[in-house]
Formats: sequence, structure tokens, C-alpha cells
Amino acid sequence: MADMPESESFKKERNDAILRRRALVEAGCSTYILFATCQPAIRCLCCGMASWHPEDIRQKYCGFCHSWHSEESLQNSPTK
Ligand SMILES: [Zn+2]
Repeated sequence: MADMPESESFKKERNDAILRRRALVEAGCSTYILFATCQPAIRCLCCGMASWHPEDIRQKYCGFCHSWHSEESLQNSPTK
């Protein structure tokens, strides 16, 4: 039985997403984009996952990263 360690690549992807999230937040960038094709959606710029779930959009939540997008990074952009 080939026991493919799918959770391992999953873990790596999530880890990469966390690093990207940190870089985006530190740069004062948004970690998500809102878009609409036939219905509103939110895409996480950290892991690249899109969600059409209304609650995800409302709460700015990424189900892959298991974390919320910071909205503050958009508004109080520090002039460094
Ligand atoms: Zn994500």
C-alpha cells in the first residue's frame, strides 16, 4: 500500500502561505482580494485559494490558512 503523505505537502503549502502572509502584512499589503465572476468571491493571496462561501467573504476568512485576513494592513499603512 502506497501511503502517500498528502498531509506533508499540505503542511508545506500552508507553511509557504504563512510566509507569504507575513511578507504581505509586513509590506503593508492586503492578504486577499475580493472579486466576482458569477457571484462574489474572496481569494487568499497567501495560498491562492478562492472561496465563494458568504461567511468566508464576510469574515475575510481563509479556510486553507485557517486564519483571518487583516484589514488593518490596508487602512493604517505606516509610512516607513
Ligand atoms: Zn489562504
